[in-house]
Amino acid sequence: MLDLKRHKALVYGLGATGIAVARFLSRAGAKVTAVDDRSVEELGEAANTAKDLGVEVICGFSGRTVPPGTTLVIPSPGVPPFNSALRDAEDKRIPVISEIELASCFIDVPTIAVTGTNGKTTTTELVGHIFRFWNKKVFVGGNIGTPLIAALEEEEKPDIFVVEVSSFQLLYIDSFRPRVAVVLNMGSDHLDYHGDIESYRSAKRRISENMKAGDLLVVNADDPACVSLGRSSAASVTFFSSKRTLERGIFSDGDSLVFRKDQGEEERYHLLGVRLRGRHNRENYMAAIAAARHLGCPWNVIHEALKTFEGLPHRVECLGRWKGVSFFDDSKATNVDAVAAALESFDEPVILLMGGRNKGEDFGRLAGTMKKKVKRLILFGEAGPQIDEALGDIVATEIGEKLGDAVDAAVSRAEAGDIVLLSPGCASFDEFRNYSERGDYFRNRLGDIMTRGSGLEWNVK
Ligand code: ADP
Repeated sequence: MLDLKRHKALVYGLGATGIAVARFLSRAGAKVTAVDDRSVEELGEAANTAKDLGVEVICGFSGRTVPPGTTLVIPSPGVPPFNSALRDAEDKRIPVISEIELASCFIDVPTIAVTGTNGKTTTTELVGHIFRFWNKKVFVGGNIGTPLIAALEEEEKPDIFVVEVSSFQLLYIDSFRPRVAVVLNMGSDHLDYHGDIESYRSAKRRISENMKAGDLLVVNADDPACVSLGRSSAASVTFFSSKRTLERGIFSDGDSLVFRKDQGEEERYHLLGVRLRGRHNRENYMAAIAAARHLGCPWNVIHEALKTFEGLPHRVECLGRWKGVSFFDDSKATNVDAVAAALESFDEPVILLMGGRNKGEDFGRLAGTMKKKVKRLILFGEAGPQIDEALGDIVATEIGEKLGDAVDAAVSRAEAGDIVLLSPGCASFDEFRNYSERGDYFRNRLGDIMTRGSGLEWNVK
């Protein structure tokens, strides 16, 4: 086990994860310096919280090298790999590890790790829900909610850890070895951070590099990058497919999911009554089933648990119906693959709202789906003109400046039987603090328009 008392650690970044790491390290006896590029004013309380932990804090850090004597560096998610101080540490062969790597050194119960371009949070929460339904004590967190390292300080020990892991965190693992790893898909995302798709995928692939026989890797049989990961893994592999029947693995069959095992033995999970729509959510269900079965959760428990999982806000979330038009908030769709998945969930004509800040996406990839599914495209935000250039000739398109303009236009264009879908395919930061603020704004703006109208059937939170 890592002997932290011997280390002089540099924690880079004082967000929630950085603070949790600094707390853990200093309680474990390490000497800790925490740095952040932001000024004292920008950091606000975080700087004081870190100081109260007995940590040396450097705000407005602009160092190109790590402080002298540093023996371990823990960057927060979001510190890019091309950061000079991280490069310096690597040049000096000082270990650079992520928070999940650090935490995993101190965990001795099974961990299920979930990664992918899209569907991580939904699947992580779903797996957690299944184990809770089975009366297990579960920690659910990682890249969502509570950082894994903070869970180690809880008095009651979980039976199982279910963690969402991002490519940022996987970039800096060394011995991290989950009992079950799920890789949902490997599309493109965060190219602004990783530089190119190969670096992004190779970070994701690291999730299984320490796994051995008896561990389980669950991967998407319809995603070539996932298939090649599955083929090269030392762990057992369960493939899933929402598009075709598999000889072994989990696949869709009408209103059911079928889990076909080695000796042709089959389990069937009926989906009538489940809440999440769309093929992409079938994939999330399949991945969760494989993970839960591997750790012994009984078939009937899973079967019932699937039906009681409500899903999460801002992910193709149905807000309600008004004058025969249904409104969906998919504000969490910040890349092209998520937009495609949302569009595939609908048979009705869609009025699609897209825009925000482009993360380096190729919007032209949506052309085929757009032609089949979208009646009208309404653009907003910084990326509006770029999306227009890529898709404006394919479908009737209009551009508003802000999301509010797009919402007003969508409401005035929609006819009974249409779907109005916010699935932006972009980050929100040009206009909002985050995707949930953007989704809430969408809901509220619609609510305002509708309370002025009539025929309201609206799910108000
Ligand atoms: P993540 O944590 O990976 O961002 P979320 O569960 O928060 O994933 O969903 C993000 C977006 O991706 C939402 O728009 C959601 O509808 C869509 N999505 C969810 N699951 C999948 C999947 N398996 N494949 C493609 N898109 C998905």
